[in-house]
Parts: sequence; C-alpha cells; structure tokens
Amino acid sequence: MKKVAFYTLGCKLNYSETSTISRMFEEKGYKKVDFNDTPDIFIINTCSVTENADKKCHKIVREARAISPDGYVAIIGCYAQLKPKEISEIPGVDAVLGAAEKFRLHELLDGFVRKPDAQVFASEINEAKRFNTSYSANDRTRTFLKVQDGCDYSCTFCTIPLARGNSRSDSIANIIETAREIAATEVREIVLTGVNTGDFGLQDGKRVERFIDLIKALDEVEGIDRFRISSIEPNLLTDEIIEFVASSKKFVPHFHIPLQSGSNKILRLMRRRYQRELYVERVTKIKALMPHCCIGVDVIVGFPGETQEDFLETYQFLNDIDISYLHVFTYSERENTLAATMEGIVPGNHRADRSKMLHILSDKKRRKFYDDNLGKEGTVLFENDVENGMMHGFTENYIRVSAKYDPILINELKAVKLISVNSIGHVEVEEADTEILKHLPQHRL
Ligand code: SF4
Repeated sequence: MKKVAFYTLGCKLNYSETSTISRMFEEKGYKKVDFNDTPDIFIINTCSVTENADKKCHKIVREARAISPDGYVAIIGCYAQLKPKEISEIPGVDAVLGAAEKFRLHELLDGFVRKPDAQVFASEINEAKRFNTSYSANDRTRTFLKVQDGCDYSCTFCTIPLARGNSRSDSIANIIETAREIAATEVREIVLTGVNTGDFGLQDGKRVERFIDLIKALDEVEGIDRFRISSIEPNLLTDEIIEFVASSKKFVPHFHIPLQSGSNKILRLMRRRYQRELYVERVTKIKALMPHCCIGVDVIVGFPGETQEDFLETYQFLNDIDISYLHVFTYSERENTLAATMEGIVPGNHRADRSKMLHILSDKKRRKFYDDNLGKEGTVLFENDVENGMMHGFTENYIRVSAKYDPILINELKAVKLISVNSIGHVEVEEADTEILKHLPQHRL
C-alpha cells in the first residue's frame, strides 16, 4: 500500500480541500500517514497570502526530500497557481498543479512516477470554473465545509481572485447532502467557509441561489447542533440574514465581519464595497437583536496612504464600536496588485507599531466581551485536547472555556454558567440547569 502525506499552509479553505483530496487518495487505496512517516507521495497545499510563501515552500520541499529521498513531491494551492514555473524550478519538486487541476492529481500524475523534470499543470485562472465540494475531517467536534469559492471583487491588496478565480458555489441540495454525510460522522458543529461566503449562489456565472436560503435549509438538518458562518462581508450581511440567525435553532450568535479600515479614505483606496457607516449599521442591528452576539473583525494596518491620522481614525472607530475581538493583518506588498503600485508606502516600523496597538485593543475588547458574559448561561462544545489537566471548548457566542478534563465531555454540548476569567484568559464555568437550557434558543441565554 503506497503511503501519502499532506502539508497545508493557509486558510480553512485549504484545510478543507486537503482533507477532501486525502479522502480521494484513501478511496483509491493509499494509506494516509504523517509527514515524517517516510511517505511515497507528498502533497503540499500552499497559500499565497502567507508571508514568505516562497521560502516556506522551499523549506517544506527540502524537508520532504530529506524524509523520503525518492518520494514524489506535488505542489498545489494558491501559490502554485500564481507561480507555477518558479515552483517547478525548486529542486526536488516533481509536479505543480494549479487551481483548475488540483483535484485531478490521479488523472494527471499517472502513478506518481518521478520524471527527470517537474511536470506543470496550471491553466489560466479563468479556467477554474468548477466547484469542488470539500470539507475538513481532522476533528471530531467541528468541520469546515466549503460552500463557495473564488471572488469577483477587486480589493486592491488582494491576490485571492488571481489564485482562486471567479466566484462560484455549491448547490444548496448538494450542501444539504454533504451536511448529512458530516452529521453521520458525529461531528456536532459545521463552519460554513468560502472566499467570499456571502456571495454564495453563483453557478457558471449566474446567480441561481441565495445565501439566506442556504442557511434556512441547513437549519433543518438533523444531527448537526451548531452552524457557524466563518466570515461575511458587511455589504452582504443583510437584515434578513441577521434576523434569521437571531431566530434560528442552530446558527450561533457569532459573526466575523471584515472591516479592513475604519477610515473611509483608506476603504476607498482598498476598493472595499462599503464605508464605515454601513459597518456601524450592521453591528448596531446585530446587537439590537442579539446583545451577546460575538463579533470578530479583520483589519489591515499600514496600507499605502494610511497616515498616522488615518490609523488613529481606525483605532478610535474600533475602540468605540461594540465588537468582541480583532484579527490584525500587517499590510505587505503583493505582486500583481494595484496596492503594490500605490504611493504613500508606510515604513515597516510604523506598520509594526500600529499592529501592536491593535493587538492590545483586541485583548481589551475580548476581555470586556468575556466580562460582560460572566454570570450568564450557555452551552459549550468540548474539544479533544488536554493541557495541564484542563479541557477546552467554545460557547455558541465563541467564548473560550476551560474546564477540568473529563473524557466523557469530549464532543458533547454541555450547559454551563460562566463564572470567571482565569489567568490565561479563558472562562471557567460551572454546571447549569440543563432543563432551563433545553427550552431556550442558545443566544437568548
Ligand atoms: S472580498 Fe476582497 S479581500 Fe476578500 S477575497 Fe475578494 S478581493 Fe480578496
């Protein structure tokens, strides 16, 4: 039996795709092994957003070669689509497959037999039209299910549309079937992922379905206790979606909404499709219906043209708005993007200072959100990890909880009362009255 190992860089989408490709290998009789377990084949799924993607790729290829000198090394993923030739020249690489080819490894790399030169299969990105259903399966509690891929927006800093192609989606019928398949594996929570998830519904360039209808249909799937929306653009997060989540049985009160900047000038330079006023409106609507909803925010510091005043405007905006945590990204130039040609380059030390300030603000926001929830009841989905005798899990509104390790609780939803924030910033809990919890929608607790 030939052995295959996988290495994944980047986002949840890459992880769900690696998982699906690994299942394809297993169905064909290959054995999935760890990277160090002398595999016959290595599949490295790359990311174009990762800092130093090229260096990382070189390093992993070198490691693979050292582990299995005669092993077959194939590179797939966003970086493979953007730089196929460059990657094919890395010593030790046997094949490079682009976005349209990565799910056709078996067909294209006949028998995974090494050739003197690396083979490259990378069509132009506009050839990537197919949607490939993917979901992650490394974790018993939670699965990342890809419902949408690609993006038709043109944010000036972003290479994702070049690496993943146009927006396209799975069909609602197929997603429901996949969710049922996942439910049969006893996974309790599904996280809906995509490049631009809220743009769900395009098939072959035509809008045939709507995100709101997808979430309404998923809410009825038996066997899954929770659905989470990984991230949604503010301009696509409609009142209808917010209202549905507020009344839903299974969609949890947690939104992750990219902002990127709190300065309208910078938002325009980024070619984002909203201004800061819309963001405030969305957060106000959510909080009016779900006061304990968790709201995460993506923000970029150091975009070209961002003066200290513009940054302080973002800082003040985030300080004033009722959000729960930040994901802070430091801008870095990417080839083939408009932003990389813009004036007003922000020096590296200013980028670093701004990032630091927002990381501190994020900690402050998270702590306040946790404090505001103390004394309330909720449900925790406990995960399969132990650290110093403690286990962890998340509430429906994404509060990280610690409790004394008890194997019986793994992959169980447990009703708890939130008691205090401990020294590592997790919330400690005590058992709650399950009878009360049974009758209440989760986010009303
Ligand atoms: S919405 Fe903008 S940032 Fe997000 S993937 Fe599309 S182009 Fe990139």
